[in-house]
Amino acid sequence: MHIPDLLARISAEVADEVGKGSAADYIPALARVDTARFGMAVAELDGTVHGTGEWRQRFSVQSVSKVFTLALALAQPGGDEVWDRVGREPSGDPFNSLVQLEHEDGIPRNPFINSGALVVTDELAARGSDVTEELLSFLRKESGSPGIAVDEEVADSEAANADRNRALAYFMASYGNMRMPVPDVLAQYVRQCSIAMNCAELALSGLFLARHGVRNDGSRLLERSQAKRVNAVMLTCGTYDAAGQFAYRVGLPGKSGVSGAILAVVPGRCTVCVWSPGLDARGNSVAGVAALDRFTTLTGWSVF
Ligand code: GLU
Repeated sequence: MHIPDLLARISAEVADEVGKGSAADYIPALARVDTARFGMAVAELDGTVHGTGEWRQRFSVQSVSKVFTLALALAQPGGDEVWDRVGREPSGDPFNSLVQLEHEDGIPRNPFINSGALVVTDELAARGSDVTEELLSFLRKESGSPGIAVDEEVADSEAANADRNRALAYFMASYGNMRMPVPDVLAQYVRQCSIAMNCAELALSGLFLARHGVRNDGSRLLERSQAKRVNAVMLTCGTYDAAGQFAYRVGLPGKSGVSGAILAVVPGRCTVCVWSPGLDARGNSVAGVAALDRFTTLTGWSVF
């Protein structure tokens, strides 16, 4: 498979999808983004990256950050204890939903909805980590890009519009499922979502999941079974309440974010990151899902 030709073909085939959908409108800094943008990168296991379109254009990673914070939490000594505080089932509800928390005693359904990610951030913070710095350091090392940083404009815009996330965190605190003060956890969470990266950097940063837990320098971040579990939760819970549709169309573990990014993993082979800000009704990038759909169809590289 000649990946540059493949990417050129996919880019041409999904051109009609680029610009469809709408940018996330609940955060002003995201609402201003032009939806007619598209980038895609594939990172091979040896760190070779191929790209098409705006694959070097940075955007805020948003919920794609949830994959990395989960991995960092699991990598701690006794890290699997995080599963005492967050479940592993698809939610079937929007990413910022409150309702299910009341039915399940303040335990979020999974680590990839906002409530679950707040718990993961809290878990890392309670273990003494400056979560954003730890995350930035990991992402810089894996991608080889020391300049990766928080987009302060997006962070300010998120922080000014965080009432729903604040409500989720306080609601969980009322059940005893927050260890650190809510304002601290929220501040960390907002900054993680606002980290700016491009498709190549995200694809490289996710390679440990394609390598069954092994980082780009050959050291191990996660045990093989932990990496398998993160991939499994991405497959079942990574694309909001459209994970069934994503599994059906793409057939890969994937995590999307409201900036229009999707990071997908082909275990044992490569990672793929797409970015296009036009979102469908469930919050997934229209052109991004279409491109991944073409990718697995043309290559046969899916987990099924
Ligand atoms: N910053 C966003 C929020 O929590 C992340 C949402 C997402 O990408 O799903 O509201």
